[in-house]
Order: sequence, then structure tokens, then C-alpha cells
Amino acid sequence: EDVKSLNFIEHIIEEDLRSGYAKDDLRFRFPPEPNGYLHIGHASSICLNFGLGLRYNAPVNLRFDDTNPTKEEKEYVDAIKEDVAWLGYTWDQECYASDYFQQLYDWAEELIKKEKAYVDSQSSEEIANQKGTPTEAGKESPYRNRSVEENLKLFEGMKNGEFEEGAHVLRAKIDMASPNMLMRDPVMYRILHKAHHRTNTDWCIYPMYDWTHGESDYIEQVSHSLCTLEFLPHRELYNWFLDQLVDSDKLRPKQREFARRNLSHTVVSKRKLLQLVESGAVEGWDDPRMPTISGLRRRGYTPESIRNFADTIGIAKRENVVDVSLLEFHLREHLNKIAPRVMAVLNPLKVVITNYHEGKEEWLDAENNPEDESAGTRKIPFSRELYIEQEDFREEANRKFFRLKLGGEVRLKNGYIIKAESCSKDSSGNITEVQCSYDPKSKSGSGTEESLRKVKGTLHWVSVPHAITAEVRLYDRLFTDATPDGHKEKDFMEFVNPESLTKITGYLEPSLQNAKVGDRFQFQRLGYFNVDKDSSDEKLVFNRTVTLRDTWAK
Ligand code: ATP
Ligand code: MG
Ligand code: MG
Repeated sequence: EDVKSLNFIEHIIEEDLRSGYAKDDLRFRFPPEPNGYLHIGHASSICLNFGLGLRYNAPVNLRFDDTNPTKEEKEYVDAIKEDVAWLGYTWDQECYASDYFQQLYDWAEELIKKEKAYVDSQSSEEIANQKGTPTEAGKESPYRNRSVEENLKLFEGMKNGEFEEGAHVLRAKIDMASPNMLMRDPVMYRILHKAHHRTNTDWCIYPMYDWTHGESDYIEQVSHSLCTLEFLPHRELYNWFLDQLVDSDKLRPKQREFARRNLSHTVVSKRKLLQLVESGAVEGWDDPRMPTISGLRRRGYTPESIRNFADTIGIAKRENVVDVSLLEFHLREHLNKIAPRVMAVLNPLKVVITNYHEGKEEWLDAENNPEDESAGTRKIPFSRELYIEQEDFREEANRKFFRLKLGGEVRLKNGYIIKAESCSKDSSGNITEVQCSYDPKSKSGSGTEESLRKVKGTLHWVSVPHAITAEVRLYDRLFTDATPDGHKEKDFMEFVNPESLTKITGYLEPSLQNAKVGDRFQFQRLGYFNVDKDSSDEKLVFNRTVTLRDTWAK
């Protein structure tokens, strides 16, 4: 394989394999905190870690980083599992940092015994005030030199619930003058009298991220612990904690960093997405306008399109914003291959074929997918009264208008050539009906000379008496700005697009009557649509997943 096509993380792994790692040593993990739903940014991390698992035939753990009971919930754990599985990945072990609480506690006691950790009884404010600045050393806590016995006793008291929240913390004893602020005696444990979604009230002290993450990697024997760039300064602390524990016959995990992925016209931060949900700006985490995996799924995205997007943008060493149109490009590319074509009219204008017998109907053959012969054909009804789109008819238009105009001809997709003869209007001048004649010999696919006659413009349509109705939800960008959270003077919520959702009634060919939740279609000339979960036996609801590129028959 071409070495140049490897990303920089793969280069690191290749180098490790050359310098002593066995293939069996490789193990990865995806470590979400269950404090929200996964979003498109997480998809990059998921595809990176699970992609490495596939490339090196190595196990990948799904690890829940669940050390903060105030924000974490079982609902989020379940949603995360569903989303990772839907993206097409299989994890080796399902792990929880909370499963390691006892082990972490025991190791913390060891650190105390080695005089590498102490109980500080100052307030968090006092501790913050002593941190110093990057250019000025911090001040040591007056409790820094407590005896091992006293520390052990206090730490046990913390665990046993003898103290209020904030009364004490456990801190690592490292270096209050370190140029890396994170090394200035970081907090390892705080008291929280909160029930945890898994350990309930077993614990009232909870370990901090830095103390938990590397140790969890070590317990699981993860070889490469990949995280986003903001953790680069944490690497030194990650290594310091491992130094206190690592057994020489066990594998020592490595933290390596890659850039966070941002997507234009949206926000990718669970905290901000939660704000959208709680403010009512959207209807939930899986609202089809949300950049969450569950929102994209409900909108009609395919796992393939998201994986292809993530693979195309790859991983980077510097943060940037990827344009949402690239995600949509991959979506269209996949849907074009798999989505059956159907006809639906969203802004109906009635067409009456005056020389077609009243009461007569025909069932015409229609190809399901020109990109996929195996998709077969179906029958669609034709009758004297049809709907076309309002914008497909004008009384008068110039030569570049390849749709229907008075005296002009168009082909009805899968049907006949029609000619507009006259139209009717209401009292305010709006066109209410177009009267047309049709050429009975021009039926598509009939092989006659007339059927092969070329006319400029092909329109989609549905038969009025056969059409079924559905609620169709049209989406626009959720934010009016390309980087809603990139403004210092304005909050991202100010850019929420008040017109991001429009609900209309659509008229659909009757084959769609049996469409199931999640089914995806191309409504010809309009875009890709899927059946929303709000559908019931009484009412079909469609989401517009994405519009077509406007190239066909405009
Ligand atoms: P958020 O700010 O949305 O809460 P997070 O990083 O705190 O994000 P985690 O649940 O800790 O969320 O993320 C799990 C993994 O996904 C981490 O390794 C994290 O670095 C990675 N990740 C999160 N957001 C992105 C992103 N936008 N691009 C790439 N990786 C991401
Ligand atoms: Mg995190
Ligand atoms: Mg977070």
C-alpha cells in the first residue's frame, strides 16, 4: 500500500509496529461521555478509531467516560450505543469508567502512600487563587505536607460520606511551579453527593477526567488513546499518572491528538445542542435539523454517506470548519444509487387533458431506479386530471423556459406528450387550472415514432383521483450563519433560523401508500425524501432529506 495515503495517526502506529509493538498489542477505544447525543463531530472520532480497528484487525472498545453524575444519564448511554451500531461498527467490549471506581480508589491510596497525593481542605476558590499564572509559579497549599496517615484517614472519610461537598479534594502532588498549569497539583477527586446512573449511591467521591482516562486505557490495555487537540497539554499529566502505576510487563497506552471537526451552519458541542433542545428551538435531540447522528438518521442520511464524508475529510492536526455541502454531496451520491424514484407534487396545479376520456385510467410502466436495473419497475396511474407543480406552468415564457407554456409541449415523465391550450384563473388572477391536449401515440416506451419524438422539458406529475396526500416537512439550515458559535459579541442562539422548518401537504403517487418509516425515495425533480417516524396509519409524514442538485429539466 502507498505509505503516503496513511494519515498521521497511522504513521505513528506503523512506526510503533516497526519498533517493537506486536500486531496483537493494538487496541483502540471510542470514549464518549454520556452527557448528550453523539453528533457529526463524534462521527469523525468513531470512524477514526473503528477504522483503525478494521485496518489492523484490532479490537475497539466502546468506553463510557461516566465520571460526572450531575450530567450523565442512561438515556444517553442507550442512544450512543444505538448510534455507533447504526454507523455500522461493532465494539469489542462495552466498558464504563465507573466500573473502575474501586480500582482507581485503590490506586489513589497507593499514590497517597508514596506521598504523591494529598487531601486539600481549602475551597475550590482558594485552590484556584494559588494556581499562579503560566509565567509565575503557583503557591503550595498549606495542606500539601499532611502525613500519609492523616491523608489516608481523610480520603477514607471522603469516600464514606463524612464530609460535605467542597470540604476536601484529593490532589496529586506534582509541581506548583510547572510551566504546564495542569501539572500544578491537579485535583484527582471531588466530593459529590449525587446518585450515579450506574453506581447509584455507592460513591460520593468521583474521579476527575485526567485521573480516570489514562488509567482506564491502562486497565483495558488500549495501545493508542486518540483524543482531540485540546487534550495536548494533558498528555504530560496522562503520562505522569501512568508513571506512578505502570507495571513493566504491561502495555503502556499512548495518548495522541487530532483536530476537532467542525461543520458549517451548525454547532457541534453537546452543551450547545442541549441548549437547542431545552430552549425548544428544536423538538428534541433527534430533530431532523440537528447535527446529531440520530437527527441525521431521522432526516434520511445513510450510515455510508456519513462514513464516506468522515473518510474524505480524514483527520487533521489543525482545527477547521468543513462545509456542510460536502456532507450533502456524499449523501446525494449515495442516495442517487439506492433511492427508488417516485413522483410527488408539492405545489399542485391542476391539468385537465381535454381529449382524454372522462373516467378512463391507465397504468403506465415506470422505472424505479435508472442507476440500478435490479430495482425493477412499477405501475403508475394516468387519468384525465393531473397535478403538476405550479412553477412548471407559465402563460408566456421565453425560449429558455423548458416547461409548460400556452401553445407549448412537454413530456409527462413515463407518460404522454401534452400541449397547453388554455388556462383558467381565479378573481385575483391566480392560475387555477390548465387545459391541455395529449398526443395518444406518444406514450413513453411504446416504441412508436411519436413516443420517440423529442420535446424540450419533462415534467413530473400525479393523477388527481389516485394521489395520496402526506405531510411534507421541508428543512432549511438550522442557523443563518456559517459559524454561529464563532462570534465573540453574539451568542450562537441569536443565529437560529426561524424558518428552518416548513410543513406542507404533498400529493404522491399511490405506490407510496405502503412506505415504511425510514424508507428513502427520490421525488423526481424535487429531492430526496424519507418517511418520518411521526407517520401513522392515518397520516404519512415525509422529511425532505436534501434537495437535488438543480440540473435536471429546469
Ligand atoms: P462535546 O463538546 O460535544 O461534549 P466532547 O469531546 O466533550 O464533545 P466526548 O463525549 O468526550 O465529547 O467525545 C468522545 C470522543 O469524541 C472524544 O475522543 C472526543 O475527542 C471526540 N470528539 C468530540 N467532538 C469531536 C469533534 N467535533 N471532532 C472530532 N472528534 C470529536
Ligand atoms: Mg469529553
Ligand atoms: Mg464535553
